[in-house]
Amino acid sequence: DSASAPNFIRNQIREDLDAGHSASVVTRFPPEPNGFLHIGHAKSICLNFGLAEQFGGACHLRFDDTNPEKEEQVYIDAIKQDIEWLGFDWAGEVRFASDYFDQLYAWAQHLVRNDKAYVDDLNAEQMREYRGTLTEAGRPSPCRDRSVEENLDLLERMRTGEFAEGEKSLRAKIDMAAPNINLRDPVLYRIRHATHHQTGDTWKIYPSYDFTHGQSDAIEGVTHSVCTLEFEDHRPLYEWFLANLPVPTTPRQIEFARLNLNYTVTSKRKLKLLVDQGVVDGWDDPRMPTIAGMRRRGYTPASLRKFCDMIGVARAASTVDIHMLYHAIRSDLEDNAPRAMCVMKPLKVVLTNWDAEREEVFEVPGHPARDDMGVRRLPLTRTLWIDQDDFMEHPPKKFFRLSPGGEVRLRNAYIIRCDEIVKDEAGNVVELQCSVDLDTLGKNPEGRKVKGVIHWVSEQYGVPVEVRNYDNLFQVEAPDKDRDVDFLEHLNADSLEVLNAIGEPALAEAGAEDRFQFERVGYFCADRHALEDGSLVFNRTVSLKDGWSK
Ligand code: ATP
Ligand code: MG
Ligand code: MG
Repeated sequence: DSASAPNFIRNQIREDLDAGHSASVVTRFPPEPNGFLHIGHAKSICLNFGLAEQFGGACHLRFDDTNPEKEEQVYIDAIKQDIEWLGFDWAGEVRFASDYFDQLYAWAQHLVRNDKAYVDDLNAEQMREYRGTLTEAGRPSPCRDRSVEENLDLLERMRTGEFAEGEKSLRAKIDMAAPNINLRDPVLYRIRHATHHQTGDTWKIYPSYDFTHGQSDAIEGVTHSVCTLEFEDHRPLYEWFLANLPVPTTPRQIEFARLNLNYTVTSKRKLKLLVDQGVVDGWDDPRMPTIAGMRRRGYTPASLRKFCDMIGVARAASTVDIHMLYHAIRSDLEDNAPRAMCVMKPLKVVLTNWDAEREEVFEVPGHPARDDMGVRRLPLTRTLWIDQDDFMEHPPKKFFRLSPGGEVRLRNAYIIRCDEIVKDEAGNVVELQCSVDLDTLGKNPEGRKVKGVIHWVSEQYGVPVEVRNYDNLFQVEAPDKDRDVDFLEHLNADSLEVLNAIGEPALAEAGAEDRFQFERVGYFCADRHALEDGSLVFNRTVSLKDGWSK
C-alpha cells in the first residue's frame, strides 16, 4: 500500500517535524471556484488530505477567490460536494481567501509604509514591456519613486473606487533586474469593479494570487503548502512576503508535478469550453475528467483514491496512461459490483420445444465470490433476447457463439440449438428459432462439446433500459500538446453510443449510482439524473477487458 510509502514530500515534513520547525502538520487544498474539480485536483486532494491524515494533522479547504468575475457559488457547492464524496473531511469551517481581504489590505499598507510597495500608473501592456525578458533586465516604472504618503493616498483611493480598472495597480518594490522575473515588482492589487460572491461590492481592488496565497497560509497556520510545479518560480516571492510582513507563522511551500492524463485535458478553462460550447452535457457529463463526471460515469471514491495512490507523487512531470484509471475502477468493481445480464442489441429467440406458458426460474449468485450479495432470479420463457453480436449467419472458424445449426449455452441455463433463421424483407435476421436440450442443465451434453456461453433475458420479464457507451472525448493522446492547433479539433465524434438494451428483472430495482457488471459486456452505473426523471439509464463505466498491465 503506497499510501504510507515514502515520497519526497512526506520525507520533507518528517524532517521539519524532527527539526522542530513545526509541531504539527497543517495542509490545505486551495481551489479557485471557477469550475468543477477534475482528476488532477483529485491528486492534489488525496495528497493534501492524505498528508494531514498520515501525520495526525488537519487539512483546510480554502477557496482561492481573488478573481470575482470568473467565480460562482455553483462551483463552490460542487467542489465541496466532490471533496466529501471522495471521502475527505476538511478541518473546521470552509475558508475563503476573501476572509482575509482586510488583513491583506493592512499588509499592503504595511509594505507601502516601509517603502516596499508603490502605486503604478503603467497599464498591463506597458508593464510587460518594462518588465524585460529572461535575457534582458527590466526598467523601473516612472512611478517607482513615489513618496510613501502619495502611495498610501493613491492606494486608499484605489480601494474606494476612485479609479477605473487598469488605471492603477499596487506593485511590490523588489528588484527590476532580478533574474527571476516574478521578483520584478509583481502586482499586488489590481482594480476590479466587480461584485464578489462572498464580499459583494465592498472591494474595488483585489489581491493577486501571489500576494494572497502565502499570507493566507500563514494566517491559517498552514505548515506545508503543497502546490504544483508551475509555482516553483514563485517560491522566492512567497518567501519574500513572509519575510517582509508581520505574519504569525511561516509556512513552507513544496512543489510536485501536476497530473496529466492522456486522451483528455485537465484544465478548468478548457473543460469550461467543452461545457460552454455544448460539446458535452454539462460539467458532470460522464465523459468529462471532472470528479462529478467520473462519479456519474460510475467511478467509486475508492477507485479514484487508489488511482492517485498508484500514480504516486513526484517532482518530474509526466503523463499518466488513462488505462491506469480504467484498471483502478475495474479492479474495484470486479470485487464489489453485483452481476447482471443485459442484452445490448436484442435479437429475438423463440424456443420451439418450450411450452408457451412454461416458466423456469434459475437462482444464481449476485456475485461469484460474494455470498453477501445474495441471489438473483432469472426466469426463462419461450421467447427471449440474446445479443445480435452473439449470432453469425456465416461464422468464421472458432466462432463459439450461435450460428445456423450450431449450439450454445444460455448462461446459467440450458444449451440451445439454432434450427431456423427468420429474416425481414430487407434480409436482416430478426428472429432465431431454436430448440432446447433439457438434459444440459448444469452438465455437458453427451458426445459433443459446446464451448460458447451467451447471456440472455426473457422477453416477458426483461426490463428495457437505455445504455450509454462512452469512449474517450479526444481521438489523440495529447489533444492540447500543439499550441498551434485548437484542442477542439481533436474531438472524438463517436464518444457516445446510445443503445436500447434489455436487462434482467433485477435491474428494475436499480437505485441511483448502483453499479453492475453486465456479464460479458462491462461495468455500468445507473444514471442518477435519469432516475430522477423516472427513466433507467446505464452509463458504461469501463469495459471488461484490461488493456493496462504493469
Ligand atoms: P486549472 O488550470 O485546471 O484551473 P488550477 O491549478 O488553476 O487548475 P486550482 O483551483 O487553483 O486550479 O487548483 C487547486 C489545487 O489543485 C492547486 O493546489 C493546484 O496546484 C492543484 N491542481 C490543479 N490541477 C492539478 C493537476 N493536474 N495535478 C495536480 N494538482 C493539480
Ligand atoms: Mg490556481
Ligand atoms: Mg486555473
